[in-house]
Amino acid sequence: MNNNKGIVVIISGPSGSGKGTIVKEMIKDDKYALSISVTTRSPRVGEEDGVHYFFKSKQEFEEMIHKGELIEWAEFCENYYGTPKSYVEKMLREGKDVILEIEVQGALKVKESNPEAVLIFIVPPSLTELKNRLVGRGTEKEEIIEKRLKRALEELDMIEKYDYLVVNDSIKDAAEKIHTIVEAEHLKANRN
Ligand code: 5GP
Repeated sequence: MNNNKGIVVIISGPSGSGKGTIVKEMIKDDKYALSISVTTRSPRVGEEDGVHYFFKSKQEFEEMIHKGELIEWAEFCENYYGTPKSYVEKMLREGKDVILEIEVQGALKVKESNPEAVLIFIVPPSLTELKNRLVGRGTEKEEIIEKRLKRALEELDMIEKYDYLVVNDSIKDAAEKIHTIVEAEHLKANRN
């Protein structure tokens, strides 16, 4: 029986899929713990250290890898991103479901070490919509947008490795679908 243990809920999807907004919607009612990642990317306007990410130098990031402080890490568009281990483990022990909003390589690493983790891939309603969202948010230079679009297409190829695919045509509906998936996964875990 596994009824007291939290589940790792991994949300991935290309830049511009709206996964960040869905996650914000999901954590509104305190049902989930959200893991804050470590990154070597520079903060965007409005991003705060310890809220959106823990912003680190490359050297600090590498030290965390060597000390075994990350569950997983990956390079994405020339920056490192990783999930700190201690918070996730603590929340799971306390029976809380933990959301990791991470890219594909990291998601697959977590699934390898924790097969109970549920992998959810968010897609926008269309590729045109994806491009519009990326350009429209206006936080990145054109060159970076191009890199992210290219990476988005590569990520879409990995969909089949995921447990669920959720189309983001409405934030509320997508968040609701994910709640339902997590509830179903708990029922499954309790049966085993
Ligand atoms: P952004 O720069 O747009 O905040 O994030 C770029 C990509 O890195 C997104 O796909 C995001 O989900 C992913 N990401 C954020 N944190 C982590 C992490 O801790 N590990 C991994 N593997 N990917 C992450």
